[in-house]
Amino acid sequence: MLDFTDRATLPDAPREFGFWSDGYWRKGVAMFERRSPGHGVPVTLTPRCTVDDLNAAVAAARRAFEDRRWAGLPGADRAAVLLRTADILRRRRDEIAYWEVLENGKPISQARGEIDHCIACFEVGAGAARLLHGDSFNSLGDGLFGMVLREPVGVVGLITPWNFPFLILCERIPFILASGCTVVVKPSEVTSATTLLLGEILSEAGAPDGVYNVVTGSGRTIGQALTEHPDVDMLSFTGSTSVGRSCVHAAADSNFKKLGLELGGKNPIIVFADSDLEDAADGAAFGISFNTGQCCVSSSRVIVERSVAREFEEILAAKMAKIIVGDPLQTKTQVGAITTDAQNSTILSYIDKGKAEGATLVAGGQALDLGGGQYIVPTLFSGVTPGMSIARDEIFGPVLSSFHFDTVEEAISLANDTVYGLAASVWTKNIDKALVVTRRVRAGRFWVNTIMAGGPEMPLGGFKQSGWGREAGMYGVEEYTQVKSVHIEVGKRAHWIK
Ligand code: NAD
Repeated sequence: MLDFTDRATLPDAPREFGFWSDGYWRKGVAMFERRSPGHGVPVTLTPRCTVDDLNAAVAAARRAFEDRRWAGLPGADRAAVLLRTADILRRRRDEIAYWEVLENGKPISQARGEIDHCIACFEVGAGAARLLHGDSFNSLGDGLFGMVLREPVGVVGLITPWNFPFLILCERIPFILASGCTVVVKPSEVTSATTLLLGEILSEAGAPDGVYNVVTGSGRTIGQALTEHPDVDMLSFTGSTSVGRSCVHAAADSNFKKLGLELGGKNPIIVFADSDLEDAADGAAFGISFNTGQCCVSSSRVIVERSVAREFEEILAAKMAKIIVGDPLQTKTQVGAITTDAQNSTILSYIDKGKAEGATLVAGGQALDLGGGQYIVPTLFSGVTPGMSIARDEIFGPVLSSFHFDTVEEAISLANDTVYGLAASVWTKNIDKALVVTRRVRAGRFWVNTIMAGGPEMPLGGFKQSGWGREAGMYGVEEYTQVKSVHIEVGKRAHWIK
């Protein structure tokens, strides 16, 4: 019996999962072995599904949508399933957090906090299921009445990445289900366990068979087949901008499925001289180190007013040196392991590029050997100029680049000097500066004197090459609907043929 409490240890053998389709666990033929990035030992086995498995899951989702076993229910009944799911998640919180840690490498205390956020997503989704509504037009004259119905899009394909396997899933599933859609999920092959567990949880909560299905496997086979599938009405993809672009092509070449895209970011944090520098440095350290910087909204570019730049960087470097990097199963750990070998090499190569291109290393800059697993110390580069690779590319690791500015215009221009537009933050005690920057920086999520705050009531999504559409809250649930204009003649028709 595994212990999921603060005394949790590694499993003796990897746990084997099936895939979840049409309301049941199904046995995989070939399996993918996942090693814990924090410890290097095998922890899970998940199926390498076939395209036939995917087609069967899409067919199950189609049946569950068309016979109206889900979309035909009152919103209150769908809400009840989502609320029961929240209750089960509350009961199984530490267990889900445990598998998330073992597959992803994030710290256990952070993972538990993320499950709390997921519970809130289901509760907000339940509210959305009850509140979702259309519109009416009583302004078309006495002879005509207009209604705008919101209808579920249909079968949704959902593709998720490895950095927040359960959190990203739960920022979407409650809203997809609230709308009345059914879904086939393809999680990242390296972090599939918790997405699979949600299948049995939703089933226990009363979701009918076929409403939620999970098909595991590689992006190139199962992911690509899902994006191209002619019987999927909408695809919600969260991941890299390059795969996002291939989803657009696949949608155009198949059935013009509707797309929701949440992609990369190179997010600025602007620090004015009049801000509380201690607060801003704490926000910047958190913004780049949370989830080892493997976070689409990581604040990876700090843009600081030149008059306080040296003082600010000293405070920031001192704070970063105090961050506890270590074994993700220890509750005191703040920064855990890098999730994949490939990502570990990518981050280290960017640290080398930063040095080679002439930036000044102020903090961190090295891997940490803990006798197993892969760890990188939070890193700060100063004197970064816009042409450098560490200034432009999404590194997706704990590497922060510092830029200096003299005027508000210069700060805004540096912040917008990226192809991305996912998130941004500004730190100042001057309300005018805060509002000017908030209005002018192009990003879908914005924080003033804080960072990565918020809840599932607020929409998530990006400008520019960070994506299309919004997830979460009422904006999120509406993405999974389409509107139908209904025109009703009132009284006797005025005849065309006299
Ligand atoms: P990725 O794009 O490589 O993979 C994401 C998912 O797509 C995985 O499930 C993968 O198996 C699948 N996939 C890969 N190739 C595919 C293909 N050809 N067709 C269909 N699916 C395919 O991204 P990743 O490495 O898992 O995650 C890191 C990236 O995700 C970063 O760029 C990051 O910014 C982005 N991200 C964005 C958000 C957001 O909300 N904007 C959140 C998390 C991560």
